[in-house]
Amino acid sequence: MSGSDGRDRVVALDKQRVWHPYTEMSHYREQVEPLVIESACGSRLRDADGREYIDGNASWWTCALGHAHPRLVAALTRQAEVLGHTALAGIAHENAAELAEALCTVAPDGLEHVFFSDDGSTAVEVAMKLCLQYWVQNGQPKKLRFVALEDAFHGETLGVTALGGVEVFRKPFQDVLLDCLHVPPPRHPYDSAGAFAALEKTIAGNADTLAAVVLEPLVQGAAGMYTYDAEYLRHARALCDRHDVFLVCDEVFSGYGRTGRMWASEHAGISPDVLCTAKGFTGGLMPMAATLATRRLFEGFLGDPERAFYYGHTFCGNPLGSAVAREVLRVYEDEQVLEGIAPRHEKIAATFEALGGLPGVARTRSLGMIGALDLGGDSGYLAAAGWRVYELARARGAYLRPLGNVVYVTPSLNIPEHDLDRLLAIVSECVGEVAS
Ligand SMILES: *Cc1c(COP(=O)(O)O)cnc(C)c1O
Repeated sequence: MSGSDGRDRVVALDKQRVWHPYTEMSHYREQVEPLVIESACGSRLRDADGREYIDGNASWWTCALGHAHPRLVAALTRQAEVLGHTALAGIAHENAAELAEALCTVAPDGLEHVFFSDDGSTAVEVAMKLCLQYWVQNGQPKKLRFVALEDAFHGETLGVTALGGVEVFRKPFQDVLLDCLHVPPPRHPYDSAGAFAALEKTIAGNADTLAAVVLEPLVQGAAGMYTYDAEYLRHARALCDRHDVFLVCDEVFSGYGRTGRMWASEHAGISPDVLCTAKGFTGGLMPMAATLATRRLFEGFLGDPERAFYYGHTFCGNPLGSAVAREVLRVYEDEQVLEGIAPRHEKIAATFEALGGLPGVARTRSLGMIGALDLGGDSGYLAAAGWRVYELARARGAYLRPLGNVVYVTPSLNIPEHDLDRLLAIVSECVGEVAS
């Protein structure tokens, strides 16, 4: 079944059975006419009626190389015929081994060991557990707390929810979360000097109870694509060194070129003790993630069965995901993906800067392949203004899911020029209509 009959059946079954993420379901059932996507290619989604939409956020920030990249599809199908899955406990396979080697080669200096998991949340969960267990069994059992930024987003498992600062995601669980000290981010509405001072005070005053500082380097994604200066990361690195606290960079969103460099940490010239990657890691084709750690951390788990990291996921190092993730790195190199960002960034930056002049736009920002603006009025994840832009853009053929009143684009890094031009023109028209 295809076309409108197929679409109607999908929507009917969906509304009967599927519980959607981040969605109040009675509103969804009664008021929302969902997009029904049947296929996607490059930077375009195609719905059941054959209409195309430019994918303004690379499908939740994952499809860094566009949809159905022929080399990634080929790597996946080739691997599926050979070895679809095997456990990784006590078993080695070529894909995971070669991927780990390739990943350490492109990673910031000092990250030498790779722990595989399933998604961004588990990549950060692994980071938290690595840090906690390290201190417990290496002579500092009181180092049990974390530091994170207000408005941070590090995923959805109960462990990482403690790090998060987005109010609606955190609130129902606030009484059962691990101990985390939240500090102001170095960006609007806080001043950088104040944020530096708060971080310094928090780390210096609590070092003997801190396991790690966890940051989204350079950009707080889910909070609303809020960018901040690389200087803060250097500052955090220096403070963590001075007080012997681990620095975890959650590069789940910011990695794989999203900010213009392979890793956002590179803008600051720093290496974290732990780095988390997912999303662009498999080009959005397979759910898979990795947590990279230094030799110091790795060695803190050696020598005694009781010191091992007793943690794993069924699909750790899955051969399909590994084959795709390995091919992603080759495509980055062969197609010079990072080199293609600068000219695209210029266009994104110019568009958002110009929109900053509208009376209904409070502020704008851009970094690498990210452009974002805040519509005036209510703020927070539940604000409605962004959804008006979403509806207008949808009618014009672009998918622009907002974050509350934040309208943003995070297209695939290799989005063809004409699609990027069209996407930005739609953003300008729709924001212009809502914010003039
Ligand atoms: C999306 C995201 C996560 C969570 O990743 P999932 O794959 O959705 O579990 C964690 N950290 C950051 C910075 C993210 O943007």
